[in-house]
Amino acid sequence: MAKKKDDDCWKKGGKDCGPGEQPSIFDQLKKRPFKFSLWYFVIVMISLMLFNTYYVSRQQEKELVEYSVFKEKIQSGEIKRVGLGKENYFGFTTEDEGTSALVYKTVPVNDPLFVPFLDERGVSYYAMVTREPVLLNLLFQWVIPFGLLFFVWRLMFRRMGSMGSNVLSFGKNRAQIVAEGETGVTFKDVAGADEAKEELEEIVDFLTNPQKYTEIGGKIPKGVLLVGAPGTGKTLLARAVAGVAHVPFFRMSGADFVEMFVGVGAARVRDLFKQAREKAPCIIFIDELDAIGKSRINVMGGNDEREQTLNQLLVEMDGFDSTAGLILLAATNRPEILDPALLRPGRFDRQVLVDKPDLKGREAILKIHSANVKLDESVNLLEVAKSTPGFVGADLANIVNEAALLAVRDKRKKVKQGDFMEAIEKVVAGLAKKSRLINPREREIVAYHETGHALMAAKTEGADPVQKISIVPRGMGALGYTMQTPTEDRFLMTRKELLGKIDVLLGGRAAEELVFGDISTGAANDLTRATDIARRMITDYGMSERYRNVALTKRATPFLGERAEPVMAREYSESTQSYVDDEVARIIEERYGVVSETLRDNREILEKITKRLLEVEVLEAAEFLAMVG
Ligand code: ADP
Ligand code: MG
Ligand code: ZN
Repeated sequence: MAKKKDDDCWKKGGKDCGPGEQPSIFDQLKKRPFKFSLWYFVIVMISLMLFNTYYVSRQQEKELVEYSVFKEKIQSGEIKRVGLGKENYFGFTTEDEGTSALVYKTVPVNDPLFVPFLDERGVSYYAMVTREPVLLNLLFQWVIPFGLLFFVWRLMFRRMGSMGSNVLSFGKNRAQIVAEGETGVTFKDVAGADEAKEELEEIVDFLTNPQKYTEIGGKIPKGVLLVGAPGTGKTLLARAVAGVAHVPFFRMSGADFVEMFVGVGAARVRDLFKQAREKAPCIIFIDELDAIGKSRINVMGGNDEREQTLNQLLVEMDGFDSTAGLILLAATNRPEILDPALLRPGRFDRQVLVDKPDLKGREAILKIHSANVKLDESVNLLEVAKSTPGFVGADLANIVNEAALLAVRDKRKKVKQGDFMEAIEKVVAGLAKKSRLINPREREIVAYHETGHALMAAKTEGADPVQKISIVPRGMGALGYTMQTPTEDRFLMTRKELLGKIDVLLGGRAAEELVFGDISTGAANDLTRATDIARRMITDYGMSERYRNVALTKRATPFLGERAEPVMAREYSESTQSYVDDEVARIIEERYGVVSETLRDNREILEKITKRLLEVEVLEAAEFLAMVG
């Protein structure tokens, strides 16, 4: 990808580059025709101070002497004339007034005999009117400095006002309008997130050709939420949208709404939508939505400011009609902490998963980032991609950069494969610290585990067919997944089907034990679900031997809440409880035996699929089914 300002700022800060890029106040001032500089102010202040000291020192151009010395000088006749001021006595060495004779100055003590003393000496004296230049002093010490300060203050505020972040207009938003094509990023610069790309390309199409959709009566979505681990390219995708959309694009980060003062964030949201409505059709992009969208339920003590901001966002989202050509785009890497209200239909009705890239995706990303890097013939990007499972786009961009730096350090003109391998090691060391990395052995365990699930799904009658197997880690503890899609809507399940479900769930752990002779913690979630099914078969569905057709629990829904789970009331004795526990254990044990046997019988297929999965990381249904036969 070509070097762009935006890219650099990502590298520096790692954060969203949107509002942070706004020119500082001084940059802003520099652009003004009248070049205001703080230096002017400083110069004026310094000259004022100099003048003041000079002025004062002129008054003090007299030799200050002790009172006794002063008297002595009168005695000796050196002082011929004395001026009696209120605070100082001045002694002149000449009789006539005009000449600037040497002057002594002293601070008088309470000496009532001083005047008689002067009379006695025959020294002329007079009461001196202190010519304190009150007005001038006032002017120089107070009026001018404060006037200047006021002037500068006014100036600053006027400038800030024109930037839209005036202190006097807190609520003004700081959204940056990105002009069309300005980001220079297109969808070609994004690789490996094909589904997300398709989705967003469609959004751009919605806005550029709305009649195409509205003619048929299609409804344009209001909000699209990009969800994915950090560094998977969510911000990049949004920039690509801005780069290709022929409509204004407002970009802002969630953190910009969070302010110290209650109500400021909400005002910003209001202002942002107001501006956007005026410019419709347009796109609003809120990066790092979780900063404002955090669930209101689990926050201890609450946060009025954020809550108000979130409420305002919800209100605005409800308030606009997508036919007006306004689409809200947002990104988050923590969808689980978002307030459920945000995800309700009519708000972010579309969620786009920006997954970590698989092998092919990683290769494509490496290609994009090394497009401008001179590569040796030895370089094999596929090999690099193979050695970087679990890496996201940002990590890969980092690797290309590191490799180039290594080549430069070696004073070579081209990057060779060795540089890449060294760069991977470097980046891996960094990532390992953040525990974002899976080691090869774990990867192998995950592959067998997922294949176990998939194989059981294929071998179990009535189980939902496998759609996809993946060992690309998804974050939040999920190291891999097997996706099954139901062929039809089901409202009932037979006993056999329930047991089949348990079989598929146990497939993962059974495969691990079969292959490695040991088991891992990776099956925790599977076991919870399998156990739950088994327990409900006994307590709810009356499928056990002793309590055939007896429901052991009573369900009650206490209130209609967001997450209200039906509360289970136990209506049986301790001995029944222990029977339920034993029976659950028995069912699981029995199924585990069946599953282990099935896998053992299909060991070859298990190995074959696992090997392939480790290679490509994601197996689609067609290839999987062909391998199972
Ligand atoms: P996120 O917002 O999801 O945390 P970013 O969009 O900020 O991630 O990605 C950071 C950088 O990583 C991008 O600027 C880009 O250089 C690189 N990158 C990430 N994902 C991809 C991708 N799918 N294709 C190409 N480059 C990517
Ligand atoms: Mg981002
Ligand atoms: Zn599993």
